[in-house]
Order: sequence, then C-alpha cells, then structure tokens
Amino acid sequence: MGSMPITRAQATSASRGTIEPMEDELVAWLRQHLPAHRDQSVPIGDDAAVLHWGTGPGCVVMVDVVMDGVDFELAEVAASRVGHKALAVNLSDLAAMAARPRAAVVALVLPRHGGAELARELYAGMIPLAERYDVALAGGDINSWDGRLVVSVTAIGQETARGPLRRSGARPGDWIVVTGSLGGSRLAKHLDFEPRVNEALLLHERYALHAGIDISDGLTLDLARLCEASGCGSVIDLASVPIDPAAGQWARQLADGSTALDHALSDGEDFELVLTLPADEAARLVADQPLEIPVTRIGEIVAERGLWQRDATGIVTPLVPRGFQHELDKP
Ligand SMILES: [Mg+2]
Repeated sequence: MGSMPITRAQATSASRGTIEPMEDELVAWLRQHLPAHRDQSVPIGDDAAVLHWGTGPGCVVMVDVVMDGVDFELAEVAASRVGHKALAVNLSDLAAMAARPRAAVVALVLPRHGGAELARELYAGMIPLAERYDVALAGGDINSWDGRLVVSVTAIGQETARGPLRRSGARPGDWIVVTGSLGGSRLAKHLDFEPRVNEALLLHERYALHAGIDISDGLTLDLARLCEASGCGSVIDLASVPIDPAAGQWARQLADGSTALDHALSDGEDFELVLTLPADEAARLVADQPLEIPVTRIGEIVAERGLWQRDATGIVTPLVPRGFQHELDKP
C-alpha cells in the first residue's frame, strides 16, 4: 500500500476501505509483549497511561505525533494553528481519561529550511492553549532534517479524586452519549478545536461515568475500541447522531455519494467525547445539559459484542466501524 496524501480528518470509508487495521494490531502486540510494571495501573491501549509512585493522585501521561502531510498540510495552514493542534490533541486524550492537564514537553523535527521561524510560529499557537488550561510547557527537544515538519507532544496530567476514566468500564445497559456535534471536521474543526478538558472534568465529577474515549479517528472506530476494551457491544440509533452542519457541507463538497451521517459516523478528528454511563445517570445528564455544548444520547451498550446500527424503524443491523487508521505496509 502506498501512502496516500490524505489527512486524518479527510478519511472516509471509501478512501480507507481496503486499509488493514495495522495500528490496532500493533497496539495489541505491544500489550502482550511489554512487561507489566508495578507503577502502572492503566496499561497501554487506553487514551493515556496512569502511573503511581506514591500515595498521591496518579500521573496520567500520553504522547501524540502530528505530521505535515498526514494530520495537516503546512502549505495550506498557518503554523500557529498546527501548534495549537499538536497540543490540543494531547489535551483531548487527557480529557478522554477525565484527567487534569498539568504539563507538556514538546519535540520538534523541523525542516532544515525555515525551521527556526516555523518553531516560533508553532509556539505562538501552543502557548495560549497551554495558558488557558494552566499547562506548563516544561521542555522538549529540537531536531532538523530534510523531511517535513513533525511535532510530538507528551502531555502529563493528574487523575482526579474519581480516578481515571477508562475505555474498559462500559457495561450492558449503559447509554452512550457524545459531546458536541460530529462530522466534517476537515473543513476547520480538526485544526481549531477546543479539547473537552473542562467538560470531561465536570461530567466525571457530577455523573457516574463508566467509560470514555475521545473521537480522534472516527465515532464508529473509536466506539468499537471502547467496546473492545470493555468486552461488550453497542447499538447506535442513527437518527440520534448529532450531525455537525460541516458534515453536510463536506459531503456536498466531496460529491462522492457520501451523506452527512456517513461523515458524522466515520470522520476523524472531531475530538468530541464518547461516554457511557448507567441509563438513570445518563437520563439525568441529558436532562440537565450541564455543558455549554450539547450532550446527546446516541445509543446503548449491549452484551453482544460488535457494533450495531438501529434505523428509524427500529431495525438493527451490523455496522462496520470506519475511520482513520495509519497505514503500514504488510511484511
Ligand atoms: Mg484518544
């Protein structure tokens, strides 16, 4: 498989249909082969790891890489927006764990030509976001090469008194809710999104959340991962999925037969939260609407494994998870 010039937010079922799920396979291999460590309470494969060195709150840590040509096109966007995104994707993963962000370290691999100016612009986008969430930009590393820009951010957070929110806690009967609206992120949101940090902290404090994940690769793909980790399945009520107006706009722009709903289900980089919680708690949450953005019930967790869709007439059929996966050549 060759590498396609397609960004994560742009990925659609049509363009990714033949892609092997190598990223998930590799994570599964790592989970088997990396030795367990006594300090680690949440092993790899969740949105972040959780470490304990004493009696204080656990340290929640994760790393993410964004690359010119994969996650953004530097020729088309200001570097400051890339800087914002590089930190924001990390804060989104901390939000998925309902952890409080504390610090980040930043590794830059700069193109040799114009790299210094580029670095300043990246930080111009990163610093306001760090200040907004009281995150210490505590250090990093700078390299240069003949390739395109690569930015890697390691974010460090702290679990709250409720502990980390994991992917593995979903139970049959839970309602599935999402924050905000989904799809069409390619049109702007994938660069300028606000990580749902405060939303996650508030919801984790007020409601008995069971499981959570952020939508980085597509609703159905990320929900499938949550279900896999929890050993259960889910039914999505298609009519309930909150579709962002951008999803319809993006479908019209592509004119490839895809619908707004297709994009809401499978576009990457929405960076909204998918949460599960007991039905009574979820009903209270949906009635309360405690956030500035909507929280919508989109379905429920079921015992039978797999991903299912329920149409407006109540008919349930299998739903193939779709979204963005990094390509790796088969050996
Ligand atoms: Mg994530």
